[in-house]
Amino acid sequence: MSRRGATLTTATGGRARIVPFISRRGAELRYSSYDVLVVGGGIAGLTAALGAAYRWNVGLVTKGTLDQTTTFLAQGGIAAAMSPHDSPEFHLKDTLEAGVGLCDESAVRVLVEEGPARIRELERLGTDFDRRDGRLILGKEGAHSMPRIVHAGGDATGSVVASSLCDVITSGGRVEVHENEFVLDLLMDGGRCVGAVSLDEEGELTISLARAVVLACGGAGQVYARTTNPLVATGDGHAMAYRAGAVLRDMEFMQFHPTALYGRENPTLLLTEALRGEGAYLLDEQGERFMVGAHPRAELAPRDVVVRHMQRVFERDHTDRVWLDARHLDCDFLRERFPTVHGGLAERGFDLCSQLIPVAPASHYFIGGVLTDTWGRTTVPGLYACGETSSTGIHGANRLASNSLLEGLVFGERTVRELNRYLAVADPAVRKVKLDLADEPRKGNDPVVVARGREKVGQTMLELCGIVRSREGLREAAASLSELQRSLEPPGLAVEELELFNLLTVARQMVATAAMREESRGVHLRSDFAERDDVNWRRHTLVHRDVGTGDMVVEKGGVEKDESEGAG
Ligand SMILES: Cc1cc2nc3c(=O)[nH]c(=O)nc-3n(C[C@H](O)[C@H](O)[C@H](O)COP(=O)(O)OP(=O)(O)OC[C@H]3O[C@@H](n4cnc5c(N)ncnc54)[C@H](O)[C@@H]3O)c2cc1C
Repeated sequence: MSRRGATLTTATGGRARIVPFISRRGAELRYSSYDVLVVGGGIAGLTAALGAAYRWNVGLVTKGTLDQTTTFLAQGGIAAAMSPHDSPEFHLKDTLEAGVGLCDESAVRVLVEEGPARIRELERLGTDFDRRDGRLILGKEGAHSMPRIVHAGGDATGSVVASSLCDVITSGGRVEVHENEFVLDLLMDGGRCVGAVSLDEEGELTISLARAVVLACGGAGQVYARTTNPLVATGDGHAMAYRAGAVLRDMEFMQFHPTALYGRENPTLLLTEALRGEGAYLLDEQGERFMVGAHPRAELAPRDVVVRHMQRVFERDHTDRVWLDARHLDCDFLRERFPTVHGGLAERGFDLCSQLIPVAPASHYFIGGVLTDTWGRTTVPGLYACGETSSTGIHGANRLASNSLLEGLVFGERTVRELNRYLAVADPAVRKVKLDLADEPRKGNDPVVVARGREKVGQTMLELCGIVRSREGLREAAASLSELQRSLEPPGLAVEELELFNLLTVARQMVATAAMREESRGVHLRSDFAERDDVNWRRHTLVHRDVGTGDMVVEKGGVEKDESEGAG
């Protein structure tokens, strides 16, 4: 392969912008070729890879191991209308209400109608959901009008589901899986995505050509200094898609979970909402249940509502935590139903049965994402997205609990159906890759500088673009992030460093869109625009990269038409 005259570029645009990452001298390059390259091994990536492999040659790349995903940590379960008393219509109504007027109703309809079939399929693939007397046990969570959360291993749903999908994938041998391989960037050819470049543990680079690429890279909770998300959640998929020219939507919406264990751990332990579903209380410093009277569903109000009330309590009581109280619940039941939480707390010196547990909000679920239709198609030909990386429109301005694993399943499977159509006709011809290679590797930034940079992004976002935002604070955040960006050398080939650049990209998008949305809605709370403003803001925000200048373009998107009433 020639190393001169690039005809193929990476997504960073211009001529072979991957150049800085690769040195001419001693560069080791491997090549792979697939019909479908899936980036990410969580529920969305596994579902897409498994389905696509029935017809196509599929590669799956994941930057950690298959058990280092957000999916693996999921506790509460998966929402679906599985009970004879329930129906997709009820699930739809609850989702629209929680989404505060910004859900795409047609996408939600797809989610709730196809959800039950996906749950049954998981069971066929070997997932044992918890049952009593042969019937699924359905849990209750915030803003659901009835019990509808299927769960497995008590509160170990994510690991049980992911393990069964991984078993099928690895035992079938139909998907070529590459763990511990970090995807740096997408390869573009004439505006079409034709593969990706990745870096393995030994520092070797692989050029993977693919007729279609599926981004299933999860979320970006690590943008915040306090998060329930695992270390892999650094918004790489969002940043890569952005560099490739894709449109991203609603980047200002990051859901904070009300009940993460108080403290400085990263990630912090989540105390699933299902605990409150089983009757646990939230107490303030005086021992009062502050959600009673604040919302008809008390502790089971939508997450955005609970977080807002916690925020008021913090300001009133000059504190930064409240208490979760499960002492009145049966201890054997707690141990059996919540082994992950009970055990996790015990490891940290807390007893769920007899003690009040200090909790505070932490970034948890990224609603913003790569804009897709209901078939996983992004605005870039050949590039698909599903799971937390995508924005299908189902969450509106506030995700309904336990709808995200379902989203990965439903839209992962629909992406496969669309791939089957696309690949049957798409031009398969990407036959050569030419890269201009730099003479010397880039030095990059010292690991200490990188660690400090990550800390700075996390703190800046938590303090200035966290639960409560204001014009002044957002201005300060934008300045601080720009200053950090300017202070850094261009990245070398260290994963933490590349992640920092992706975190910065996503953080700047979040700040820009949060500044633009001059209202309070769902998870986006502005102290200077405290009211919801349907006249001007029942619409999305969009971000993309100007191909000519490379600048970030932030725009108002289309108006949402559904008539659902938000829960406010
Ligand atoms: C503690 C916790 C509990 C939760 N509980 C629930 C719940 O009960 N129910 C529910 O519905 N939702 C829950 N959620 C949310 C839900 O788990 C996630 O939204 C969902 O699992 C995301 O799945 P995913 O497939 O999109 O991404 P993930 O599961 O996060 O997988 C992302 C994959 O992408 C890979 N990746 C990322 N970047 C790169 C890169 N540059 N190169 C290569 N690979 C890359 C990662 O290695 C990983 O394999 C919970 C979240 C947390 C944090």
